[in-house]
Amino acid sequence: MKININQYILIILLLISGISTQNFESNISCSICNNIIKDKEYYVDAWGNPFHMYHKRTGIFCECCSRIISEKITNGGYKLDDGRYICTLCDVSVVKSEKEIENSLNRVLDILKDNNISNLNREELKINLINRNSMSEQYKFHEVEHLKGLTKVIPSEKEIFNIFILNNLPKIQFEAILAHELLHVWLFKKNINLSKPIMEGFCNLGSYLIYKLDDTKFSRIHLLSLENESTNSNVTEYKILKSIMDTKGFNYVTKNIGTIDIE
Ligand SMILES: [Zn+2]
Ligand SMILES: [Zn+2]
Ligand SMILES: [Zn+2]
Repeated sequence: MKININQYILIILLLISGISTQNFESNISCSICNNIIKDKEYYVDAWGNPFHMYHKRTGIFCECCSRIISEKITNGGYKLDDGRYICTLCDVSVVKSEKEIENSLNRVLDILKDNNISNLNREELKINLINRNSMSEQYKFHEVEHLKGLTKVIPSEKEIFNIFILNNLPKIQFEAILAHELLHVWLFKKNINLSKPIMEGFCNLGSYLIYKLDDTKFSRIHLLSLENESTNSNVTEYKILKSIMDTKGFNYVTKNIGTIDIE
């Protein structure tokens, strides 16, 4: 069964049980239509914005932050050519220009360097922003689970790592995905071969470092989704590696990742 990610984020909030609907008086207003919510049950999005249950089918959620897109909450939003919706709040920091890519890349390289990931050279990295349709095409013969980033080594230009990242992502999300991809490059250059689940779990620690450092609500929601099996298919490996990192440090994980026993 395929369930939309937003459906997982929706939490049903039960109001004080036992009070009948007729006598019930609430002053909570709906984030979508602005009317007072008089129903006994309603939904809240990942940010705590309440809305009528009947909006669930038609409600539009931001692909990046999972907020309901409405005038009241996000000051609207827009639809991208590949069908994704982005809210105005996320749009503010969307990475678009070469300069913005460059700044983010330098920042992520610095953060990784602080964590002993130091064999990555700016010159060997080529970052390409592409839409979701092109990303699906790039993935053709690979798994199609989380189509947000991909790193390729082109046989004819072995020194260049082509990193593809979904376009129109807010800066922090872009940097978190970039950190994940850069750890793939690091593993490749170190000649460390891991099983796919361990490799993905390890590379997600890169995203963790970025989100943890940012420590905003946006980042905390993304950290939660890394720990959720419906949004992260390698959640077991990620959690084991993260707990090793929590007790022994990220350095320990990078030094031992080739031999770490995950059972
Ligand atoms: Zn409503
Ligand atoms: Zn958003
Ligand atoms: Zn990966």
